[in-house]
Amino acid sequence: MGKVLLTGDRPSGQLHLGHYVGSLKNRVALQNGGEYDCFVLIADVQALTDNFDDPQKVRDNVLEVALDYLAVGLDPTRTTIFIQSLVPALAELTVYYLNLVTLARLERNPTVKAEIKQKGFGVSIPAGFLCYPVSQAADITFCKATVVPVGVDQLPMIEQTREIVRSFNAIYGEVLVEPDALIPDDRVSQRLPGITGTDTKMSKSLGNGIYLADDADTLWEKVRAMYTDPGHLRVEDPGQVEGNVVFTYLDVFGTDRAFIAELREHYQRGGLGDMKVKKYLYEVLDAELAPIRARRAELASDPGAVYALLREGTEKANEVAAATLREVRAAMRIDYF
Ligand code: ATP
Ligand code: MG
Repeated sequence: MGKVLLTGDRPSGQLHLGHYVGSLKNRVALQNGGEYDCFVLIADVQALTDNFDDPQKVRDNVLEVALDYLAVGLDPTRTTIFIQSLVPALAELTVYYLNLVTLARLERNPTVKAEIKQKGFGVSIPAGFLCYPVSQAADITFCKATVVPVGVDQLPMIEQTREIVRSFNAIYGEVLVEPDALIPDDRVSQRLPGITGTDTKMSKSLGNGIYLADDADTLWEKVRAMYTDPGHLRVEDPGQVEGNVVFTYLDVFGTDRAFIAELREHYQRGGLGDMKVKKYLYEVLDAELAPIRARRAELASDPGAVYALLREGTEKANEVAAATLREVRAAMRIDYF
């Protein structure tokens, strides 16, 4: 069995540092390693499950996400990048998989539960939203993905997919492949906090993100406004580094470990102001983001070329989906003629 990578993002906004450390870096590394057949989807169908009343936003962000992909190094000659809604086989697979999942199981999904609360759906949960993990199972299985690079919020989705695969194969015969999640090694990157505090995940929907497309001024404004230690009022006061987002980010993005350890000690001892640490974090982040930003700006000048790449990727995804669907239909005894 070949090694296949599948992952994706919702076009509900531009991509941020959480995506970068949580999934993008891993997928670019595996793409460049050359061992995997790579698929990356822009999940517009999924984005519509909670943005169905704002289709223009989803449409606009398809291009934004594609630009982010290309800017961080996803290479369309090595990775099939495609648009979910233009591969109708995914919707068909979803319908078949829905029979293999109970309502109670869908309602138990901890990530979906948290999102329902966060979005304030109350009891009026759109059925499509509750079922999106099943549609994700279709996304993952259509290309027989073996690995899915994601942040930890996605682990319940991978587990749901594995259950569907086991159930399908047990009833209809061995057609589908059980995928493994690939999460980052360090705990913070598995769920990068937003700039407003370590208890929230950086998320497009929460407006607490640093985006790959942010210009240098915006980056500085966001770093300047970052949550630190509310008790650290005067420079000479001892400061807390636990729960202090600036230090949390330095741990993830900084490379000069010795210097960061020194900063940490100095901050805890007292005598080091927030602004000095923030200036340093800004430099660290800007060094990482400036080349991405430059590539992105160049690509953004020709949206037609980006759409052409997406069209090609989508065609390839449809070919792969058609082959899997043939097997699925045969296994399910619905291949009449
Ligand atoms: P939305 O708020 O619309 O759900 P999002 O910011 O959660 O957007 P998604 O498109 O849902 O982004 O997630 C895409 C991928 O990025 C998933 O693999 C997810 O685990 C990962 N990811 C998203 N946010 C983070 C984060 N803060 N830290 C680590 N990984 C993340
Ligand atoms: Mg999300």
